[in-house]
Amino acid sequence: MSKNMIEVFGTNVFSDAIMKERLPKDTYKTFKRTIERGEKLTKETAEIIANAMKDWAIQKGATHYTHWFQPMTGKTAEKHDAFLSLTSDGGATMQFSGKELIQGEPDASSFPNGGLRATFEARGYTAWDPTSPAFLKEDSAGVTLCIPTAFYSYTGEALDKKTPLLRSMEALSVQAMRILKLFGNNKSKKVITTVGAEQEYFLVDKKYYQQRKDLIFTGRTLFGALPPKGQEMDDHYFGSIKERIANFMRELDIELWKLGVSAKTKHNEVAPGQHEVAPIFATTNIATDHNQLMMEVIQKVAMRHDLVCLLHEKPFAGVNGSGKHNNWSMATDDGINLLDPGKTPHENAQFLLFLAVIMEAVDEYAPLLRLSAANAGNDHRLGANEAPPAIISMFLGEQLTDIIEQIEAGDLNNSISGGFLDIGVSTLPRLPKDATDRNRTSPFAFTGNRFEFRMCPSSASIAGPNIILNTIVAECLRRVAEELEKADDFTHALKKVVKRLIKDHKKVVFNGDGYSDEWVEEAARRGLPNIKSTVEATSYFDRPEYIEIFERHHIFSKEEVASRKEITYEEYAKSINIEGLTMSQMVNKQIIPACIDYMTSVAESISKIKSVCPAVDVSIQEEIVTNISKLLFDVRVTVAELNKAIDEAKAIDDVEKQAFVYREKVFTAMEKLRKPCDKLEAIVSEDMWPFPTYDELLFRV
Ligand code: ADP
Ligand code: MG
Repeated sequence: MSKNMIEVFGTNVFSDAIMKERLPKDTYKTFKRTIERGEKLTKETAEIIANAMKDWAIQKGATHYTHWFQPMTGKTAEKHDAFLSLTSDGGATMQFSGKELIQGEPDASSFPNGGLRATFEARGYTAWDPTSPAFLKEDSAGVTLCIPTAFYSYTGEALDKKTPLLRSMEALSVQAMRILKLFGNNKSKKVITTVGAEQEYFLVDKKYYQQRKDLIFTGRTLFGALPPKGQEMDDHYFGSIKERIANFMRELDIELWKLGVSAKTKHNEVAPGQHEVAPIFATTNIATDHNQLMMEVIQKVAMRHDLVCLLHEKPFAGVNGSGKHNNWSMATDDGINLLDPGKTPHENAQFLLFLAVIMEAVDEYAPLLRLSAANAGNDHRLGANEAPPAIISMFLGEQLTDIIEQIEAGDLNNSISGGFLDIGVSTLPRLPKDATDRNRTSPFAFTGNRFEFRMCPSSASIAGPNIILNTIVAECLRRVAEELEKADDFTHALKKVVKRLIKDHKKVVFNGDGYSDEWVEEAARRGLPNIKSTVEATSYFDRPEYIEIFERHHIFSKEEVASRKEITYEEYAKSINIEGLTMSQMVNKQIIPACIDYMTSVAESISKIKSVCPAVDVSIQEEIVTNISKLLFDVRVTVAELNKAIDEAKAIDDVEKQAFVYREKVFTAMEKLRKPCDKLEAIVSEDMWPFPTYDELLFRV
């Protein structure tokens, strides 16, 4: 197996090593300069690379290529073209030009654009992102060369998630470099953000999945009474992995490794049927591409094992939902992790400045971070039926909190001049990196050499959260850079800045139990926002102070913000609409008929028993019939409420108003309707209930 792993890793990637081997020396060098310095590729170079790429892909069995892009749906998109080209004598050759590598022109009219481009102006372009390697998708249907690309409109607006992500990485690099220069670093050329995304998911048996319309249409169960056993025994987390699942995971690893996705950790998660896979961290851009691939591959491999992977944030009520932990840091191109506290006082001072800046960013732009983690599925987790809460706070751990408190209390004038020793601490003690100092309830936790943003939705792209994270940190770095660049006495100014930032923003630091009710009250006292839903979070998107920073750092134009806001509302409204309709249909066509059947059979049994033995007590049967009939009455009333709410929401033109009505009326009606239905499930005979129960979905895998 170990040999196998090394042999398969990256076999389907047009990697740096392959390029080095296959490209002429100077073409390879030019290409590297493009990646490292953003230099433009010439036509000739592109032609040579395209040719090498094609030869490699064809040798590996590819017949088609596609520009692989990430439209605002959060999924990936591809349009396959054959390498086929016709010759004058009626034959065919396999061709792939530099132009085809660099640019594509898929019809953009069917992707969400939030009003950016009228449908008649359907032109959309894809442009090669050479910083993320091309790869081969291989399955029983064939082999396709995939070229990671950005997707934008005729007028240059980003229509995807990759473009703003690349812009945000660039912005952060520019600002972080200013700070590093002030600290005397003349060696590093750029700062890269690094990300390791831990992916949680559920697996259910395909035969049960196929019998549940809610899972098929919405990815989550809209009904389901809790089985006698849930997750309370704490026996699933890190529990031994069943053979069927282990076989699935083994194949998953191999498929991911082939694609160069460094799947490293896998284990059972808290809820029954829930699992996690995590790769080794990479550059944000590649980590994002890899997470998209990971979600796709998990689903595909699951199918081969007669399993279905649920990526939804809350597939089951009453047990844990799924998230995606976005581990994030910043590193220089020559390998210095800027969130590593370091060993020397100089490194410590730099670390403390970056830390204080992140405190400011997280505190000041909490609504944006919250928004970046919002989707309809996550509304069931954040601040709702499940922790973590919707309040953005930051965990620093006891030791680091103690240090920032000392800095805050320290006397600025009482300094040992000339060094960084006087920033509050001489040297930071080595921070513990083991799991003891972990807080699993914090949405934004420092974990020794990185931050872990734990709110992210399991089904969504991590581009959104990272765009925001990079942008807000870039902005706060910019402010500090402006101030420090002007200072006559750097050391003194540095101390002042760090102290001020800590003082102003330590309210965002919270090391206690984020899942407790006391924290909700305490956070309110501290004035921290508690934004409970996707619709509410979305309403913050285009505040002038946010547009200002998006525009300043060239992340989004005002129009791009407006379009994304509209798409978020639309997407929310559509998913709740589908959920509402599915629920209504399942009630009318499955639950009510099943209940009537059962009730009838019980009623028939009463008359049958009575006809044989009139004196027998049939009060149990009568009670069942009465209870079902009462609950069915509730069902009838609430399903009518739901349908009315859906009609009302559908009729609204304004997307923002519409999304709010979906949240306030449709969603609420759904919650209400579920209650009597789940009670009915507990009464009706198991073999007459119209679809598989939680017992089957969660425990029979
Ligand atoms: P846990 O579940 O204990 O939080 P995991 O090992 O499952 O930890 O995941 C931790 C993730 O953090 C991995 O993807 C790892 O590669 C990533 N990581 C480690 N160092 C960094 C870093 N400097 N920047 C970004 N991610 C990192
Ligand atoms: Mg983990």
